Amino acid sequence: MTMIPSLLDKNSWNKEDLITLLKAEGPEMEMMLQRSAQTRERYIGNKIYLRGLLEISNICSKNCYYCGIRYENRKIRRYKMTLEEVEKAVRFAYEQGFGSVVFQSGEIEAQPFTEFVTRAIAKTKDISGGRLGITLSCGEQSDSVYRQWKEAGAHRYLLRIEASDPDLFKKLHPTDDKHNLHRRMEALRGLQRMGYQTGTGVMIGLPFQTLEHLANDLLFMREFDIDMVGMGPYVMHRDTPLFEHRHEVPLLKDRISLSLKMIAILRLMMKDVNIASTTALSAIDPMGKIMGMKAGANVIMPNITPAKFIGNYNLYDNKPYVDLYSNASRLTMEKEIENQGFKIGFDEWGDSVHYRQRTGS
Ligand code: SAM
Ligand code: SF4
Repeated sequence: MTMIPSLLDKNSWNKEDLITLLKAEGPEMEMMLQRSAQTRERYIGNKIYLRGLLEISNICSKNCYYCGIRYENRKIRRYKMTLEEVEKAVRFAYEQGFGSVVFQSGEIEAQPFTEFVTRAIAKTKDISGGRLGITLSCGEQSDSVYRQWKEAGAHRYLLRIEASDPDLFKKLHPTDDKHNLHRRMEALRGLQRMGYQTGTGVMIGLPFQTLEHLANDLLFMREFDIDMVGMGPYVMHRDTPLFEHRHEVPLLKDRISLSLKMIAILRLMMKDVNIASTTALSAIDPMGKIMGMKAGANVIMPNITPAKFIGNYNLYDNKPYVDLYSNASRLTMEKEIENQGFKIGFDEWGDSVHYRQRTGS
């Protein structure tokens, strides 16, 4: 055994400690995952919260080098759901007791899109009598847009920083005003100031990424006092510029174990935040989402985007799709979760306990 057991007994970790923890393998890694699961149980319990994910539009003005719906990918059909389509999906989420929905999209800063999202939020409130929680993940927007969406009823926002290291961020994005780490951090800060439950995250196993980068990402999340985190493995997409660097990407099994370690360590560092077990985990292992929950995650985002749009929201190759409109698949999903000893928080918002502590709300 190395120094992992003694590191796990600490209460705060510096960069070197985190790098050591990220290197844990075999029984030591298992020990870390177990400690994280115990921490989750003790601080926030054993519930898993469901957020019905609606990919409301794949129209994007940005060109992130890793993402399949980037502006310059001409191979996909662009779409924006209609309000009626959103309404139908939201109604379904509500009837199934999902508790919350997430509206996710490419990044568009334009009045018609702002209005569309505002109407979708208002409709959701209307349909559910205010009982469905609403998370947004629609990229960087001005403070006034964030405010408009908050006033309409959204209360959580997920804006991944992608990589907190400026040099790594530059290798993943074009160098221009639209893709600027400082601007993204300011947007995140704006969301926090405005009273959103604020979420961020990074991709794990990127080309050029080191364990030191990941350790700094964890420290960034703690210093930022983030309420929710969605982080998962980087998955390649063949029609993106980053695909050229596919030989520099860690093996699938290493990306999975690194992602699980990131979740577990974050849970030890920030005991009461919400952590999502992401779809990207299932893209590289069918049991990925369950493994994420066992490592300390307490939120999942089952995809309820209508089937006709799914193929055009491929952020990465082999994005998994389960038709949750089918009773059988939904029951299978629920059983898989419950079989692991978790309880599903049906009809609950499942807000971040950390947010409540941070804001006294
Ligand atoms: N456009 C908004 C934004 O960028 O914040 C929200 C939607 S975007 C599709 C959501 C997340 O997908 C991004 O933050 C990014 O981390 C993730 N993503 C994009 N391409 C990916 C890939 N190839 N592998 C893993 N995650 C990816
Ligand atoms: Fe657009 Fe978001 Fe993809 Fe970047 S990650 S290209 S902003 S959808």
